[in-house]
Amino acid sequence: MFFTETCANILLTDFFSRTHNYLRISLTDNCNLRCFYCMPDEDIACTPNAAMMSPDEIVQLAGIFVNLGVNKIRLTGGEPLVRKEFAHILSRLSTLPVELTLTTNGILLDKHIDALKQAGVRSLNISLDTLNRDKFTLLTRRDQLQKVLENIELCLQQGLHTKVNVVVMKGINENEITDFVHWSIEKPLHIRFIEFMPFAGNRWMPEKVYPMQQILSDIETRYKFISLGKEPHATARKFFVEGSQGSFSVISTMSHPFCGDCNRLRLTADGKMRNCLFASTEADLLSALRKGEPVQPLIEATVKAKKEMLGGQFNADFEKIDPERLQNRSMISIGG
Ligand code: SAM
Ligand code: SF4
Repeated sequence: MFFTETCANILLTDFFSRTHNYLRISLTDNCNLRCFYCMPDEDIACTPNAAMMSPDEIVQLAGIFVNLGVNKIRLTGGEPLVRKEFAHILSRLSTLPVELTLTTNGILLDKHIDALKQAGVRSLNISLDTLNRDKFTLLTRRDQLQKVLENIELCLQQGLHTKVNVVVMKGINENEITDFVHWSIEKPLHIRFIEFMPFAGNRWMPEKVYPMQQILSDIETRYKFISLGKEPHATARKFFVEGSQGSFSVISTMSHPFCGDCNRLRLTADGKMRNCLFASTEADLLSALRKGEPVQPLIEATVKAKKEMLGGQFNADFEKIDPERLQNRSMISIGG
């Protein structure tokens, strides 16, 4: 039995009148790539299986969130497709009244394409920061560009709404921005340029951020485009080059944060709830569930504790951020 939307909205509304209906669940902190901006340099041991949410626990916790008003779930990680029980978890979550979607590095997509279609997934995000094979290998420490490209093509053939996440880093891949836009003109792909964000151990420096204004002026040198604006609760500001099959957008977390209408909550693979990517605190839902204690009050309290902006740790003046002073996990252990 699910709450009515109004009742649930109240329970998942924070002090800044933001209602939360979107949950991102990390299935693992393991990955088959080693992107330096996500995974810390030093080899950090992955969470042991016993400390991770089991498939049953994922479904139970997801059900509690749905009962409180969540109607969209994104599976992420680490790399969600390396989780052994991925297809099983996906199929069980697909019985909930939610829009189900996925963020993946794309390498294992061909193995799971049927499961995704059967579960009713219609849209997914694939991460790819470069179209150059050597650079891909340098960024991810794996020579897998061709596989990712083939699987993006497969998603298009299967009619999936396919978004490509590109983390733009100054001095690394900003010279490929217009090539990605060109790709979205030729193919029905939705390219999302993401400003580089600071997380524990990811060598972030303000000078490496390539801000939205710069991204747009680079694109302007080659293409005329119009703004399609930002949909409510979206992180991306969308743009369109006339005649394109796809579109491009910019996720300007660092230079123009979009916290005002954020509707996202997160669950890490070890069952900790986070109210923001940059939150410095978390609530241990999995331990409560395992002890048979009520989980809902923890969820409500975590929503109410959400800070107005960027986890209360910084603001849009990103040039002044001292990454050493941020309290956070690495991106791979949060779930992007
Ligand atoms: N493995 C999957 C993937 O790569 O898509 C899902 C997890 S990954 C952590 C989710 C998203 O976070 C990816 O699009 C990735 O590029 C992005 N990401 C990771 N670290 C980031 C950072 N420091 N700044 C901006 N985006 C980042
Ligand atoms: Fe793995 Fe995705 Fe992080 Fe790259 S961004 S290391 S693919 S989790």
